[in-house]
Amino acid sequence: MPPAPAAVAGRTIIIGAGQAGLQVAVELRQAGYAGAVTLVGEEAAQPYHRPPLSKAYLTGEKSLDALQMRGQAFYSEQAITFMPGLAATGIDRAARHVVLADGTALTYDHLVLATGAAARPLSCPGHDFVGVMTLRSLDDATALKARLATARHLVVVGGGFIGLEAAASARKLGVAVSVLEMQDRLMARAVGPDVSQHFATVHRSHGVDLRLGQGIAEVVGEAGKAMAVRTTAGDTLPADIVLAGIGVTPNTALALSAGLPVSNGIVVDEAQRTSDPRIHALGDVCAFPAPHGAGLIRLESVQNAVDQAKVVAASITGQPACYRSVPWFWSDQYDLKLQMVGLSQGHDAVIERGSRDENRFSVFYMKAGRLIAIDSINRPADHMRGRKLLAPGAAPVGADEIDTHFAARRD
Ligand code: FAD
Ligand code: ADP
Repeated sequence: MPPAPAAVAGRTIIIGAGQAGLQVAVELRQAGYAGAVTLVGEEAAQPYHRPPLSKAYLTGEKSLDALQMRGQAFYSEQAITFMPGLAATGIDRAARHVVLADGTALTYDHLVLATGAAARPLSCPGHDFVGVMTLRSLDDATALKARLATARHLVVVGGGFIGLEAAASARKLGVAVSVLEMQDRLMARAVGPDVSQHFATVHRSHGVDLRLGQGIAEVVGEAGKAMAVRTTAGDTLPADIVLAGIGVTPNTALALSAGLPVSNGIVVDEAQRTSDPRIHALGDVCAFPAPHGAGLIRLESVQNAVDQAKVVAASITGQPACYRSVPWFWSDQYDLKLQMVGLSQGHDAVIERGSRDENRFSVFYMKAGRLIAIDSINRPADHMRGRKLLAPGAAPVGADEIDTHFAARRD
């Protein structure tokens, strides 16, 4: 047998066994990588899907088994060594090894950092009381689910995706919910004002006590247990659970200690390479060049993790590697399926089609006369078409073409 090309042999160590880390292992094998692949994960569980944690898993509609990304047999069949329950604690770039929490040192030819992000905890007085929670991991979701079973009042801090999905799930379970959002509208990081407005109306119609322009001043408790929340407006709300959904911070400690450049994420080039060509980073933890040369961006989505994994595998196996996907994302709240494609920041006009009353509409974001993003509510065909029309290299879509491409279609 001819020897394998140098680029496809060797040993690849992947740190972080989440969406991005596991997908790199999958893609390496699909790309014909013949070297050893080791996947190191600090969590005890097999790699699992995070999106249901705030949705169907929390409401009990999806079981733990349904969260698993791959069955047990997958790892041996694909010759992937999975090391669960072990954190990587250091990288020696000169010696090319990574050190694990139990002292093991693993030598690498290629190292992949897929360490994801951590939920930002509250920092106000009472933040450490029992009943104050975050939602990022399976353990977090299992603990929240158990508390929701007996809780009467949930206060969610943060009206982003995680907070609002958890709020909708808690309402489904019959728990009274208040949401505090510091800004004047919901999900402001990702969607336009019209969509924020619609979701505010829907949450209120489901009985959520939504307070915009308010944050949390203090968790009030007794004997170390959360009982209420005092808001920045001076109101006191009963709370046996306080859930912080106030964003995440990328897990960059390992990269920083190894001297790799970090700027709100591990800085990578268009091939997902850090400043050290033997080390790649991807997923929630990386800051990558934005399309159209607009600096670095960091995205938190399944699409981003999965598509960047293909690029990492291509780069390691010596294939052309350049990340240029159109970003897309979804969020399920009540019976609303919100799907977003493209990045709407900087839009200068919007076109809306469909019916808000029927909870089926799309908002098309235009910049300089050209379509840049779409938010769709219960209009999956608009979203799917948008993914094609906004793909890199696709012809620009002007305002006068929206109806031709979208509105005439029925989902
Ligand atoms: P992660 O999935 O966070 O995986 C990183 C892994 O690395 C973790 O298991 C972590 O424990 C491990 N790790 C960290 N440091 C170390 C270390 N030093 N050593 C070893 N292991 C380490 N996205 C969508 O597109 N749609 C959705 O509807 C959606 N819903 C979501 C709902 C919830 C509740 C959450 C939390 C996220 C949701 N997301 C959603 C976001 C999506 O899950 C993330 O973007 C995706 O998981 C990112 O993958 P990742 O592998 O980069 O990070
Ligand atoms: P997540 O992924 O946790 O949903 P996002 O960034 O999408 O994160 O949303 C977090 C939301 O929390 C933002 O809308 C932000 O304005 C809000 N937020 C952040 N800190 C506070 C706070 N102290 N009180 C209320 N809202 C907050």
